[in-house]
Amino acid sequence: MIVCGAGVVGASVAYFLARRGVAVTVVERTGVACAASGKSGGFLALDWCDGSPLGPLARASFTLHAELAAELSTDYGYRRMETFMLAARERGTPAGGHRVAAPPWLDGSGIVTAALGSQQTTAQVTPARFTAALLDAARARGARLHVGVVEDVAWRGAAASGVLTAGGETLEGDAVVLAMGPWTGRLAGRLRLPSVYGLKGYSVTLDAPDVPAHALFVDYRTADGRALEPEIFPRPDGEVYVCGMADPAPLPDSPEAVEVNESSCETLARAAGRVSAALAGARVVRRQACYRPVTDDGVPLIGRVPGVRGVFVATGHGPWGILNAPATGLAMAELVADGAAKLVDLRPFDPARLPAARRG
Ligand SMILES: Cc1cc2nc3c(=O)[nH]c(=O)nc-3n(C[C@H](O)[C@H](O)[C@H](O)COP(=O)(O)OP(=O)(O)OC[C@H]3O[C@@H](n4cnc5c(N)ncnc54)[C@H](O)[C@@H]3O)c2cc1C
Repeated sequence: MIVCGAGVVGASVAYFLARRGVAVTVVERTGVACAASGKSGGFLALDWCDGSPLGPLARASFTLHAELAAELSTDYGYRRMETFMLAARERGTPAGGHRVAAPPWLDGSGIVTAALGSQQTTAQVTPARFTAALLDAARARGARLHVGVVEDVAWRGAAASGVLTAGGETLEGDAVVLAMGPWTGRLAGRLRLPSVYGLKGYSVTLDAPDVPAHALFVDYRTADGRALEPEIFPRPDGEVYVCGMADPAPLPDSPEAVEVNESSCETLARAAGRVSAALAGARVVRRQACYRPVTDDGVPLIGRVPGVRGVFVATGHGPWGILNAPATGLAMAELVADGAAKLVDLRPFDPARLPAARRG
């Protein structure tokens, strides 16, 4: 079995396949969690996808996250959180006072407008470490990691026989799972796959130890009137992660070529400083950018690639890929190994629901 891509989705598929005793080779072009899966927020919510096709996948994943934290026996920063909504301005203060009891560390000029989640409904992981822990656990059960660029699926008639890599190598496998995040779209023209795009966002991490486990969603206005929605996630390792700032920049050919815009990162760090003195003076440790994988209808592609045998896809998880990776991985392992997923109904995610992308 070949899994293409060692982001959180590929790592999760590989882990659950390896847990069933299936021999897996993961092919990754750059490094484990080098793209969005290493640079994302890692925020998890039980019920925020309810009412959408993602609801059951998210609920199953939230439960699996708790189970995995015990099962993988690696500390990757899994913990439950309280979650709040704030309003803040780059200059001045929003009208009114706190609408719910504000935790004392939120001593800046923001106002707390709502409690969005409790320790029963919201949690976090440190995504790079979570992805690495899944892949390490897969390798401990016999999976192999192969560094190489997947160029195409290799065929025996209409059935997949493995993948072709940029080095001209063929890696043999009786099934192929495409989990290359936004780059999965690069194969879309050669297979009957719907379009997959990349949506760019920025993040910074701040050196701010001893901040409580409170996730913050901020309704923020810059001094020049832009409305932004930064998200702030304190992590147990003493860093505070801040992300936001969507950017229409096109997806580059590889994760190494993703460019970081310093002023977007400064805006995020400044926004964090407006809500708490603990963040206002904090050193910026990392400035980074990445692309989340998105589809035309905002719903992931999880299932068989139409028209061929032995090719599967798992991508397009948008803003919820870290949350939804566990149920995606387990359901995909069931589909590949048993012919059908039991954990969740994968029909809403069937790639055949969308038209195939045009040949590029
Ligand atoms: C700023 C930001 C914040 C986010 N915050 C959250 C959050 O708080 N909670 C949440 O649940 N989700 C969050 N997300 C979404 C989440 O990060 C993504 O949905 C998820 O990481 C996608 O994982 P993936 O494995 O599909 O793709 P990726 O992480 O992009 O991994 C794809 C992998 O495939 C490899 N690859 C690409 N092409 C090839 C090739 N040809 N051959 C071999 N390998 C290849 C890449 O190198 C990469 O390692 C956030 C996203 C962003 C951008």
